[in-house]
Amino acid sequence: MITRTDCAACDAADPLAAFRAEFTLPEGVIYLDGNSLGALPRRTSARVREMVENEWGKGLIRSWNDAGWYDLPRGLGDRLAPLVGAGPGEVVVCDSTSVNLFKVLAATLRLRPGRRIIVSDPGSFPTDLYVTEGIGGLFDGCERRLVDPGPDGALEGALDGRVAVVLLSHADYRTGRLYDMAAVTELVHRHGALVIWDLCHTAGALPVELGDCGADFAVGCTYKYLNGGPGSPAFVYAAERHQGSVSQPLTGWFGHADPFGFDGEYAPAPGMGRFLVGTPPLLSFAALQASLEVWAGVDLRALRVKSLALTELFIRLTEGMGLELVTPREPGRRGSQVSFRHPYGYAVVQALIDRGIIGDFRTPDIMRFGFAPLYLTYCDVWDAAGALADVLNSGSWRDERFAARGAVT
Ligand SMILES: *Cc1c(COP(=O)(O)O)cnc(C)c1O
Repeated sequence: MITRTDCAACDAADPLAAFRAEFTLPEGVIYLDGNSLGALPRRTSARVREMVENEWGKGLIRSWNDAGWYDLPRGLGDRLAPLVGAGPGEVVVCDSTSVNLFKVLAATLRLRPGRRIIVSDPGSFPTDLYVTEGIGGLFDGCERRLVDPGPDGALEGALDGRVAVVLLSHADYRTGRLYDMAAVTELVHRHGALVIWDLCHTAGALPVELGDCGADFAVGCTYKYLNGGPGSPAFVYAAERHQGSVSQPLTGWFGHADPFGFDGEYAPAPGMGRFLVGTPPLLSFAALQASLEVWAGVDLRALRVKSLALTELFIRLTEGMGLELVTPREPGRRGSQVSFRHPYGYAVVQALIDRGIIGDFRTPDIMRFGFAPLYLTYCDVWDAAGALADVLNSGSWRDERFAARGAVT
């Protein structure tokens, strides 16, 4: 039997415990939705205010040079790079994940002109599927081949000489199941194709090793585990070996080699600069800049150890509640979330939110709980599991006010 005292002992021994003070969380809330929108770092408000009042208010247009605004997409990319196993100059911060997916998918199709198939997972986050569909319509003869990850070997069966690129989410957004990045990348390369990793559910959740795995391209967002704030800009990674030959079709002036030369013809910037498009939303960059300062002090191995301990604890504490666990039990195959299938999952999650335990729901029947190791404690996990048991045993979720759905679930 695990007791709350055991959890308190784990908190006392937690090497990441001090990071909780870096975040503002409302009293009485246990936040298990940092995989949708990360919590607010304390230093973010001050940094955004500084940009608004001083850099914008007083510096005005001069701040593009004086406050370093122009360098932020590349500069924040370099700060983010170590979190995903990339080197300097391999990551830029810009646009949204959806837009960046469009750019890298087009880039990979151009790098493999004799091949016209995009392989992906039918369970991918919908925007990934929609963008592959949209791109398909722009390249003659382009086809999409969706392969359930299912049993090992399924992906291999889908790879042949016509496959240009494989696009996969490192962690499945519903189940939290992890792909083996090194093995899949090696497999895809053996068939002459390129691989794009969507890191939305792993950047800031566990150490990602893009470089060591030989990955070609990656995209990801910064408003989930990275705590960049609502709608904060996304990132793009291209392995250095591709940077000389890669091109992408959204050829805006920020991706030009010399934007202020105002030349009438496009010439791509060297390196990752060519993935930039237009003027960056700088207030969002300021918020991300603040959260990346927090990340600079994080030991990613300790993060992974704590993440697995928190998810393991939640899985053990919820055993016997009659819930169907859809997240892999095997630690190596699990991201930083725990999901269950429940026919009335939406109402159960709403009943929990009513008690300050914030998780979320993904259609058709998935209750999803994300565990952000920087601001959650073992006692939080204990309390959340206790509340879940209570909601299920008491049937309080049957209250009809918990059935009404908002626009965002
Ligand atoms: C959250 C998420 C996105 C979000 O894309 P946006 O363009 O930021 O809205 C994309 N892909 C995956 C796998 C996600 O989890």
